Amino acid sequence: MRVLKFGGTSVGSAQRIKNVAELISKRGKNIIVLSAMSGTTNTLVEISDYLYKKNTDGAKETINNLEKHYKDTVDELFSDSNFKDDAVKEIKACFNYIRSFTKDIFTLFEEKEILSQGELMSTAMMNLYLQSKGIKSALLPALEFMRTDKNGEPDSQYIKQKINAQIEKHADADIYITQGYICRNAYGEVDNLQRGGSDYSASLIGAAINAEEIEIWTDIDGMHNNDPRYVPDTTPVHTLHFEEAAELAYFGAKILHPTCILPAKLNNIPVRLLNTMQPEAEGTLIYNSKAGKEIKAIAAKDNITAIKIKSGRMLLAYGFLRKVFEIFESYKTPIDMIATSEVGVSVSIDNEKNLDGILDDLKKFGTVTVDHDMVIICVVGDLEWKNCGFESKVLQALTDIPVRMISYGGSNYNISILVKREDKVRALNKLSDYLFKNKA
Ligand code: ADP
Ligand code: ASP
Ligand code: MG
Repeated sequence: MRVLKFGGTSVGSAQRIKNVAELISKRGKNIIVLSAMSGTTNTLVEISDYLYKKNTDGAKETINNLEKHYKDTVDELFSDSNFKDDAVKEIKACFNYIRSFTKDIFTLFEEKEILSQGELMSTAMMNLYLQSKGIKSALLPALEFMRTDKNGEPDSQYIKQKINAQIEKHADADIYITQGYICRNAYGEVDNLQRGGSDYSASLIGAAINAEEIEIWTDIDGMHNNDPRYVPDTTPVHTLHFEEAAELAYFGAKILHPTCILPAKLNNIPVRLLNTMQPEAEGTLIYNSKAGKEIKAIAAKDNITAIKIKSGRMLLAYGFLRKVFEIFESYKTPIDMIATSEVGVSVSIDNEKNLDGILDDLKKFGTVTVDHDMVIICVVGDLEWKNCGFESKVLQALTDIPVRMISYGGSNYNISILVKREDKVRALNKLSDYLFKNKA
């Protein structure tokens, strides 16, 4: 069995839902993971923002507009009046539930309930639509198997046990439909796997059922060699090693959720990135591929803060770095990049939530300077240190761009470079020109 995940754009209209239904019905008995229709989760966030601000009118107007959009979609999707009636009822129940939160206090718990409605609606519509076409589709409710533990990490054992029990319960189904993104936490409350987390759902499900392959269907023909939102003429990379894909996803390639590769890698399940609008395109295959001695792709991660701690006490001393890292650990703030010298260390973080406390504590160890609004540019490929020349190529491409930090040697798969936000697009384009288009 395979897991096929379709993102928001892929199910973004009645016509697209029909196209996906046709595509999946030809593929046999698989698990289909769906996101909410495109724009829905953003709108649900907007509704929650109104409710946090006690702007009930704003919330109600936005809810009404979204409901109208869903009613129109159902209207266009179903020709059979019985299935249409069922779909109308499902959608109405979701909107009534969303409206119920406009009446009382509003906290993070209520927000998470609201955010879960998008995936519940897209899967309800797809399930009924497939049934209206005579396909025995079974809905596997993610809220009954997808679960995180007390640390917010997926509870793999629980997921495995529960999803397999669900599959057995519907053994005679032709196809399984489930929600991406949504889950319950260790306390049984409705929660989610963070924005864009449907990819993560797909890969957790793939691991839980030991899938033959995990397919991520989206609106582009695979992982491109640079960010197509900022660089023209990018091209798809046809194969990537798990590690390469994980670096790209973590460092900003939006096509994949940052954590999506890990469960697939641990279970050695290939991940294929495919385009719903162009299903015949080759896409990208991510697996335990052989290294190819080449630079494959570039990605960028925004909102990075660089912190430098300089101290004479670091010179020839041991234990200095441990003390510095302990401070970040005590604030549960992960470090992305590190660069050290004999008298100082620079680190980068992507979360300023606890910055004031971190800086106060660091100042006990030396002089601290901070650069906000930085971007990590990540160059990925088979960059084994014995292969010559790739570092110089990367730096050559960036000759006229100020570089705050460079990090290489942590893995064989990436070089990370920290630049100012305003230099990001220029840096991405220069790297593409120099590394992929042979333009010096
Ligand atoms: P979905 O809704 O299907 O999950 P996403 O919007 O999350 O889709 O991801 C697909 C988008 O990722 C593409 O439309 C593209 O703009 C963006 N993207 C960013 N970097 C890359 C890259 N390196 N290769 C392909 N797409 C990328
Ligand atoms: N619907 C969720 C989001 O927009 C999850 C996803 O699409 O992956 O973030
Ligand atoms: Mg996505």
